[in-house]
Amino acid sequence: MSADPGDDPHVRLLLGAYVLDALDAQETRRVARHLQGCDGCARGYVEVAEAAALLALVRPEDLRE
Ligand SMILES: [Zn+2]
Repeated sequence: MSADPGDDPHVRLLLGAYVLDALDAQETRRVARHLQGCDGCARGYVEVAEAAALLALVRPEDLRE
């Protein structure tokens, strides 16, 4: 089992951190470059970005009954 994102030939494992702008500059460039040439990861990025946008819309007070 490998959880090292560096071993990921695609960038699936980095998409969450990429959306949150939590990657270092080198990783950010790698993800951006990969997304331009990989439809599968580009779709994954859209899904992660949409999920992150939805989460951003949920305010803490909305989570309380
Ligand atoms: Zn890919």
